[in-house]
Amino acid sequence: MMDIEKILQSMTLEEKISFCTGADFWHTKTLPAEGVPSIMMSDGPHGLRCQAAEADMIGINESLPATCFPTAVTAGATWDRALYAKEGAAIAKEAAAAGVSIVLGPGVNIKRNPLGGRNFEYLSEDPYHAGKMAAAFISAQQAGGVSSSLKHFAVNSQEFKRQNGDSRLDERTLREIYLTAFEIAVREGHPGTVMCSYNKINGTHASDSRELLTDILRDEWGFDGTVVTDWGAMNDRIAGFRAGCDLNMPGGSRYMERAVREAVRGGTLDEACINASVARILRLAEKSMKVQKADVDPDAHHALARRVAAEGAVLLKNENAVLPLKEEDAVLIGYMAEHIRYQGSGSSHINPTKLVNMTEALPGVPYIPCGDADGHVTEAQLAAAAGAAENCRVPVVVVGLPDSFESEAFDRADMRLPEGYNALVRAVAKVNPRTVVILLGGSAMELPWADEVAAILYMGLPGQAGGEAAADLLTGRVNPSGKLTESWPLSYGDVPSAETFGQKNTEYREGIYVGYRFYDKAGKPVRFPFGHGLSYTSFAYSDLQVDGRRVSVTLKNSGTRRGAEVVQLYIAPPQDGLFRPLRELKGFDKVELEPGEEKIVTFTLDDRSFAVWQGGWVIPGGTYRVRIAASDADVRLEADLEVAGIDVPAPEWQAGSWYESPAGLPDRAGWEKLMGHPVPLIPEPKKGEFTMDSTCLEMKPYSLMMKIQYKVTEHIIAKGFGGKKDMSDPAYKMMITCATDCPMRSAVISSGGAMNDSLAEGMLQMANGHFFKGIAAMMKKS
Ligand code: BGC
Repeated sequence: MMDIEKILQSMTLEEKISFCTGADFWHTKTLPAEGVPSIMMSDGPHGLRCQAAEADMIGINESLPATCFPTAVTAGATWDRALYAKEGAAIAKEAAAAGVSIVLGPGVNIKRNPLGGRNFEYLSEDPYHAGKMAAAFISAQQAGGVSSSLKHFAVNSQEFKRQNGDSRLDERTLREIYLTAFEIAVREGHPGTVMCSYNKINGTHASDSRELLTDILRDEWGFDGTVVTDWGAMNDRIAGFRAGCDLNMPGGSRYMERAVREAVRGGTLDEACINASVARILRLAEKSMKVQKADVDPDAHHALARRVAAEGAVLLKNENAVLPLKEEDAVLIGYMAEHIRYQGSGSSHINPTKLVNMTEALPGVPYIPCGDADGHVTEAQLAAAAGAAENCRVPVVVVGLPDSFESEAFDRADMRLPEGYNALVRAVAKVNPRTVVILLGGSAMELPWADEVAAILYMGLPGQAGGEAAADLLTGRVNPSGKLTESWPLSYGDVPSAETFGQKNTEYREGIYVGYRFYDKAGKPVRFPFGHGLSYTSFAYSDLQVDGRRVSVTLKNSGTRRGAEVVQLYIAPPQDGLFRPLRELKGFDKVELEPGEEKIVTFTLDDRSFAVWQGGWVIPGGTYRVRIAASDADVRLEADLEVAGIDVPAPEWQAGSWYESPAGLPDRAGWEKLMGHPVPLIPEPKKGEFTMDSTCLEMKPYSLMMKIQYKVTEHIIAKGFGGKKDMSDPAYKMMITCATDCPMRSAVISSGGAMNDSLAEGMLQMANGHFFKGIAAMMKKS
């Protein structure tokens, strides 16, 4: 046992402050005299990105080979807690073998909008689903001593201006939608660490928010681990210590440490806050010494990745049972059949132990190459594809979102597939009514040709075994059982956050109406609803029993193949008081059955199944409906349930408002009523107003120094890409965005010493029009 009190007493104030900042990109500091080891961490979430050599935070430099499991979009779609737990445990095994004791994941940010660049890394648009899946993953991942890092806490649902943007939302929405997944994962999964996000929430950076990191996370939810910043997310170290933000990653920033020292000496910061953070990091270090190592079997992990990929694939459509098919009937068409898009760009980018494409997994099936990585196709390729499609029984076209469309650090520009890929699907569908489309990509897409093809199999980003999983599903060796965790709107204009997403200071005007909560209430048709997914067999639901808070239902495989169904339980609250969604997911279970077999599935409801946030959780009393469903839109059985509770009247402004009956997009005036006060627009700072929270890109129009800085950064980054400044290369675009649109304070932390605080302050002075002050600042010793 570490004697934490004794270690604290042996440390000077400076040592303690410094201990709460990372040693480098992936390590904490060590205290050799006290026997405190350095803790090593690596990304997550769907595999280990452990960098042995030159470190970076966004996956450019190669990491050690590791199993690339399906990304969260696919794993989430399994709706299988036990299977996802196996993935968590397998990643922990690989981590332990590599000497890593913290894995940065899982990510439970809500998929608020299909354009979110990191939707592929997140589990769901629904907080209950995301929270339950994450809790299972974390418990299993941590069983052998490795710690998970639940991220990005909180309300970090877009990439644009992720480092200094403000997520502006009302408290009820914050609690019911954006915090609930974290809450479930913390209460049930007990992660060793939580990673605070970059963004502000209603004007306060997550790193500085005592309300978030202490009042809610620790005092309310009982979190007893360590809070780690996202890489470069520390805004104000003094506020951070007060908030309970323990570990500043990745590196140091002397000016922050200086300020903390002065604040303690000046009596404005209580040293006890620093002691508490040091103690929490020490406990983490102690835990890291107990990580159990075991041999890793890469083939077994590959097989597990294959299973998760197959079970997370969603059969969106299957007319006339065109699937499964016989290999001899099929032709594979399209670039992605040979170059599967299997993971996303950014910090989660894995160097896979192996990679199997669909062409390799189906060697006997003819393959017609068509198009390129970005979805360009030529007329000649289209003609060849159509020719092959005409002469086979079942053409299988493989298309998806190119790498350059979605990534950490930037959002998608629109919801469309590349026009070339749309043309390819149409050219094939035109000549063959049995066309099957395999779709790859991290989030919902517009599918203008959906009615023209026979089948659509959505695989998300299925990881290194995605090709084999596709083969398993196409041929029927595996029966599809995945279900969507995100609604697929018909077109982008239908998304309730269509107008507000992707602004620097994003107004969450749609409130609690995210995803299906909106489409249901607004009566807006969608292409595919939340929870949707077909099977090669069929299931019959019967005998719904609601006995107090206990619900049971009998599920039978009424078809002829073995298969698994995700039984979903939605609660439909009364609609006569405070505005509420028509229904919300409050239970799910995945059940595998042989043909003819049946099983009783049970759920236990709790207070939160009925509660709303009104400054605290309260249960509006009344008649609720329990809906047992195969998707949000496919209810199979329902029953009433009387719930004792309190009267929660509608606020005065509710009558006739968008929130009572949403139609079209929410406006600002209505949203201010929801917020409960006027919400002033946040003006963009100009010359004279820039702070350490400003970015090079923001200051560039006003400052020669920043123009030079931009050019220099561009040049340095381009060098790593053979001199090419190619914004269509996602890695380049991500690097340039991260480096030039990060706040000055973050550049100091993350630049590995290239930008020190004197230089940053000097440049800032210059950008604000104080040239000589700038020179003087630059000459100061950092
Ligand atoms: C990402 C985190 C990641 C960290 C370390 C950040 O840019 O937002 O998700 O864990 O880098 O790579």
